[in-house]
Amino acid sequence: MEEHRKNAIDFIEATRWVRENLENVSVSGGVSNVSFSFRGNNVVREAMHSVFLYYAIQNGMNMGIVNPAMLEVYDDIPKDLLEHVEDVILDRRDDATERLLEFAETVKGTKTEKTVDLSWRENALQDRITHALVKGIDAYIIEDVEQARVEATKPIEVIEGHLMTGMNVVGDLFGAGKMFLPQVVKSARVMKKAVAYLNPFIEAEKSDASEPVGKILMATVKGDVHDIGKNIVSVVLACNNYEIVDLGVMVPPEKIIETAIAERVDAIGLSGLITPSLDEMVYLAKEMQNKNFEVPLLIGGATTSKAHTAVKIDTQYENAVVHVNDASRAVTVVGDLLNKKNSNAYVAKLKKDYEEFRTKFLKRGKEKSYISIEEARSKKFKIDWETSEIVKPKEMGVQILKQLSLKELLPYIDWSPFFRSWDLHGKYPDILKDDVVGEQATQLFDDAQEMIQQIIAKQLLKPKAVFGFFEANTINEDDISVKKKGEEIAVFRTLRQQLKKREGISNHALADFIAPESTGRIDYMGAFCVGIFGAQELADSYKAKDDDYSAIMAQAIADRFAEAFAEYLHKQIRTRHWGYASDEDLSNDELIKESYKGIRPAPGYPACPDHLEKVTIWELLEVEKLIGVTLTESLAMWPAAAVSGYYFANKEAKYFGLGKITDDQLTDYAERKGINKEKARKWLHPNLAG
Ligand code: SAH
Repeated sequence: MEEHRKNAIDFIEATRWVRENLENVSVSGGVSNVSFSFRGNNVVREAMHSVFLYYAIQNGMNMGIVNPAMLEVYDDIPKDLLEHVEDVILDRRDDATERLLEFAETVKGTKTEKTVDLSWRENALQDRITHALVKGIDAYIIEDVEQARVEATKPIEVIEGHLMTGMNVVGDLFGAGKMFLPQVVKSARVMKKAVAYLNPFIEAEKSDASEPVGKILMATVKGDVHDIGKNIVSVVLACNNYEIVDLGVMVPPEKIIETAIAERVDAIGLSGLITPSLDEMVYLAKEMQNKNFEVPLLIGGATTSKAHTAVKIDTQYENAVVHVNDASRAVTVVGDLLNKKNSNAYVAKLKKDYEEFRTKFLKRGKEKSYISIEEARSKKFKIDWETSEIVKPKEMGVQILKQLSLKELLPYIDWSPFFRSWDLHGKYPDILKDDVVGEQATQLFDDAQEMIQQIIAKQLLKPKAVFGFFEANTINEDDISVKKKGEEIAVFRTLRQQLKKREGISNHALADFIAPESTGRIDYMGAFCVGIFGAQELADSYKAKDDDYSAIMAQAIADRFAEAFAEYLHKQIRTRHWGYASDEDLSNDELIKESYKGIRPAPGYPACPDHLEKVTIWELLEVEKLIGVTLTESLAMWPAAAVSGYYFANKEAKYFGLGKITDDQLTDYAERKGINKEKARKWLHPNLAG
């Protein structure tokens, strides 16, 4: 009891100090000593820490002083414990301390501090270096590398010998599926640190740098800003001793060609996420052919596929073209391609494989049949507009949301795609307990939580949103006329499914979910854009410290926050701003399963693949002016962690995929939109049948 009391008093003094100074804290020296020693009971101590930080942050205190790993998520503190702790911190009652001490007796303190097994430090030098690389531990690598350097005749031997030996073990384990991507990226971080330490010695000796096994140019194509996948592949190749020339994002084709020639690269890797990037890749393949290139072309990124690569890209370039959508395969593929002895046979096999795939694929496509756009319209999805409920939004017009705390978004994160971006497949939270990847997934998840706490504490990412509601009616079957006080201010063009379906199944277009003008009823729709700012700066700050793992992590987290923001905002729209589902009560799981009423389709996604529609949203909501999210020439959003789309409130509105459309709709669409058919073809390319 005495012990507890003493600790509690330390704490009370600290919180009193904080309470008195909260308004004008300048954080340095003194405050950083505020420590929460509630020895013997971690649960209570951590809760105190979290609550203290929670209020400190709310009161504008700069949180540079705390170790974010100590932070437990405020919302996760059990309610009864929270109440007792808050009573103390917020000085809510005179007997707060006594009550907390009593309560603490009932809360079992668990030992959360991890014990670190350092027995590997006793091993031989090479084993220690290999262990550090395999486990991604950088704490002792400089010490070990220094010992290796002193023992070696030349510093370069440490890279070519000790470090490469360790990295080969990493490569073998990864190749055998016994080690996973996040861990490999961490190994790369240790390797980089070691090499950075050795480089000055190598230069001083004027001995040759280690000879890379090949030089690979990597770029995200013109108009596209997404690069997580590219960055991951670059790191994995780099730690297999390839030299990477990374040209970044939005790289014009001329620059790729020029650099490939000037740097005499051995292969070119192109990446992209949005559909217009596919055409950029086709264009590049053509240019490589025109310039008589011979180096292999690697294709990767979310919208790329073996089918597109085989049908559209492989046919443009006589040399090797390979679709590599997974970092673990990149190493083997590049190895085979650049292997001087066997590469000719390998390339011949690839070409044949892609040709066979192409033939099969094209044959399969022909088996589908399509109906004319007129017929499709006659089979549109029918809503009974006599009776269908139409709710007028509570707050018409455009609004912005800039003052939101990221903390609010945490409960809305869909974690499964986060693991996918690291090549770990499975559904959260089960993946944490998965027999094969569970341990790795848990480690990755913990690292993400730690970074998120820092991001929140230091406000490293900033969410901003704009949204608006308008009167709307469907006109000419497939267009939505958006109005303000009866006056048309914009028109959204929608595309209609043309696949021939069974009798009684509709051919959908988003316009079907809005009341036609002819019904005489005024209907409503909304539009939105959410963006997470600061991820690039954060990633760059990690890269500057040779920490690619954290750089990629920062980008992946920003993406999660963007999707969570879209989910959060949509809920606010349904329950408050529009208010058509004010009594909704859905769990995050149900939100992820899209059980909500109404939809928020995003241009560029299956129901509305035309990215051009974003331009209309941008004008209608003044997105760039109000929150600063911009569009590239391919209509990718910048910052990359962003979502934009429409809101449909009708309870019958459902997500669907457009599928392929035929030439008659293309002509019609171009006319309605007032653009020439070539332009329409360029943007709808991936959705054209035949
Ligand atoms: N929970 C997932 C959501 C991914 S879908 C995640 O966190 O990654 C991303 C966005 O696409 C959604 O926010 C929604 O706006 C939109 N969307 C989903 N399905 C769609 C469809 N069939 N057509 C158009 N947009 C769609």
